[in-house]
Amino acid sequence: MIHLEQFVRPNIWKLKPYSCARDEFKGEASVYLDANESPYNQPYNRYPDPLQVSLKEKIAQIKKVSPSQIMIGNGSDEPIDLVFRIFCEPKMDNVVTIEPTYGMYKVAADINNIEYRPVLLDADFQLNAGKLLAATDEHTKVIFLCSPNNPSGNLLKRTEMQKVLETFPGIVVIDEAYIDFSSEPSWLNDLDKYPNLIVLHTFSKAWGLASMRCGLAFASEEIIGFFNKVKYPYNISELTQRYVSEQLFEKDAIKNRWVELILGEKQPFINELNTLDLVEKIYPSDANFLLVKVKNADKVYKWLVEKGIIVRNRNNISLCNNCLRITIGTKEENKALINALKLI
Ligand SMILES: *Cc1c(COP(=O)(O)O)cnc(C)c1O
Repeated sequence: MIHLEQFVRPNIWKLKPYSCARDEFKGEASVYLDANESPYNQPYNRYPDPLQVSLKEKIAQIKKVSPSQIMIGNGSDEPIDLVFRIFCEPKMDNVVTIEPTYGMYKVAADINNIEYRPVLLDADFQLNAGKLLAATDEHTKVIFLCSPNNPSGNLLKRTEMQKVLETFPGIVVIDEAYIDFSSEPSWLNDLDKYPNLIVLHTFSKAWGLASMRCGLAFASEEIIGFFNKVKYPYNISELTQRYVSEQLFEKDAIKNRWVELILGEKQPFINELNTLDLVEKIYPSDANFLLVKVKNADKVYKWLVEKGIIVRNRNNISLCNNCLRITIGTKEENKALINALKLI
């Protein structure tokens, strides 16, 4: 048991949320004159379901959780921002994260005026729970972990993550944007065991739906209740709800096929990259991208841009000196990159 009142900002704990028209009347009626919508241009004239009930029922089946444990966001970036707004008091509280990791945690911390405490991973990009926990104090409300991690691509050690979950009294967010590409089970299976756990998934990567802006936070029903109180009432458009919902079961099989295709390209791509003189090291990856150390990352990056090939230059990121982050594409796209690198 955790006592959430200790971790939720007092103003949010007391918040009486905005009650929109679709909250006040739920159900079927023949005449809707309650929301100042236009009677024309059906079906787009109507506000969407603020709690996305139908979509959550489908997601619940696929992810094997209860619909009450799901929050749907405008990408995972929305729940990341909401975590700060729900749990962290500006200028007073802090969050602890691994370094290097996904850049949005720091941006969301800065926007919300929350101290951000990065703790360097070791040279293999691995987590040491003791070192991470040593950076926490009584004002640390949230720890962010990302596994498989971006930009390094590796899974964090499960035993170390478990230590963090069991020792840290506050909220632990585990961002699993790349979990579909990894061999390890999701922390979603442990949701009922850890009342302080929030797991993030997204439709933007393996599912091939980045344009839909649809991300997921999974947590206890109590925590999801706070997400629902603080989020914009109509945060997910009708088009997104409908499209993701329609394609979910059909795409589940196709998504697995896409993951197989991408993972099938991975080892040949690594082998090709390893034949190049300019490649110094390819870090182990449990995701759909590779972190590649090269001889002169800035020069290689510029060269590739000139050839119309864009990778991510991570040269200025901690522990990523001279590293490029390269997404695994189709066989043809990967080949185009290799060919361009051969000409350098
Ligand atoms: C890509 C990515 C996301 C997904 O963000 P969306 O807003 O859902 O598109 C989340 N976390 C990490 C670590 C990522 O790399």
